Amino acid sequence: MSYWESYKRFPVIYKILIGFVLGIIVGAIVGPQIAVIKPLGDLLIRLLKMVVAPIVLFSLVVGAASISPARLGRIGVKIIVYYLFTTAFAVLIGIGVAAVFQPGSGIQLAGEAQQITPKTPPSPVDVLLNIVPTNPFAALTEGKVLQIIFFAIVFGIAIAYLMNSQNERIRAAGETVYKVFDGMAEAMYKIVRGILEYMPIGVFALIGYVVATYGPGVLGPLGIAVLALYVGLFIHIFLVYGGILAAFRLSILKFLKRASEAMLTAFVTRSSSGTLPVTMRVAEENLGIGKEVYAFTLPLGATINMDGTAMYQAIATIFIANALGIHLAPYQHLLIVLTAVLASIGTAGVPGAGLIMLAMVLEGVGLPLTDPNVALAYSMIAGIDVILDMGRTMVNVTGDLVGTTIVAKTEGELDESKWK
Ligand code: ASP
Repeated sequence: MSYWESYKRFPVIYKILIGFVLGIIVGAIVGPQIAVIKPLGDLLIRLLKMVVAPIVLFSLVVGAASISPARLGRIGVKIIVYYLFTTAFAVLIGIGVAAVFQPGSGIQLAGEAQQITPKTPPSPVDVLLNIVPTNPFAALTEGKVLQIIFFAIVFGIAIAYLMNSQNERIRAAGETVYKVFDGMAEAMYKIVRGILEYMPIGVFALIGYVVATYGPGVLGPLGIAVLALYVGLFIHIFLVYGGILAAFRLSILKFLKRASEAMLTAFVTRSSSGTLPVTMRVAEENLGIGKEVYAFTLPLGATINMDGTAMYQAIATIFIANALGIHLAPYQHLLIVLTAVLASIGTAGVPGAGLIMLAMVLEGVGLPLTDPNVALAYSMIAGIDVILDMGRTMVNVTGDLVGTTIVAKTEGELDESKWK
């Protein structure tokens, strides 16, 4: 096997981690001269920014269009309500633990001198109204992510209706549009995979620059960010999942014991989609859930329900704001809830996808990656993404299984003899 072949086979996430560690070492040794390679880091940021708007548009249109209106029946409504609510709770818990741990504070990337001039915050009504674009094409060119999401969902649902039409011509037209968007989304994923291959170099340059400029002391706050996320995930499992299961007279401990196989698989693969076969087997064999329920809810959950990812995006956003010494206003916290829920829906169930969509949340709350300090703080989070991804993916999959369990219970599709 050639050197290049073996390099390509080595999982990219470890390459990123190695780039991160090497960047720290080289940055500490070389010092400020390392600034010459900073353009390599800037290139990474530009590449990431390049894909955000199109990937949100194409993947969300396809996601919304794949839920056929006919199947969006009782089970569909129940599971979607569950998915949305638990994800919103996850973000709130994330904001809560971030308020306690204050991840990122003490980094002071922007230096003491920088004063962010406070803008008058828009009213909550305006924040919500602003989600609806007056011109979806302008939203795309200006990168207004929430507006893009809104339009993509509406457009996707419209396509779903077209594809279910009785009229042959309309149905064929709907299917064609669907296929075009599907192809576009796949092409974007290909590009993202390419960007991920470049990421080790970009992360090396960015973190090297951070350490050379601000000293290795910036690494402590990263440990706090990891701790904050894992504490938050733990609370979410026992408080939210435990509470929901208890409300349906089911025990969280019994649940965790039966779900552990899927949870562990998710932890090591860092992919909800990759874990799906295991999740389905666990649902059927360990939890006694009827196929009618899990065959629909689990694939849907692996695509749109990502509690761990949403919490991570909230904590990472606050980390970055703290690192810049920016105090987020209440309406920006509301924006975190909205964008993190939506971004997690748009996150593909593959390793590292949440990191890409984090760019969208940052944009949404007014911390665009074009700001060099935001980009630096982002690269720090990127460097430890593998550790964060393991925990969040595990919770993503756990949440799918909890929702599927309670929907099965209300539908009389749960064989509780398996829980004895
Ligand atoms: N790795 C996560 C998953 O597959 C997605 C993410 O990166 O947040 O569920």
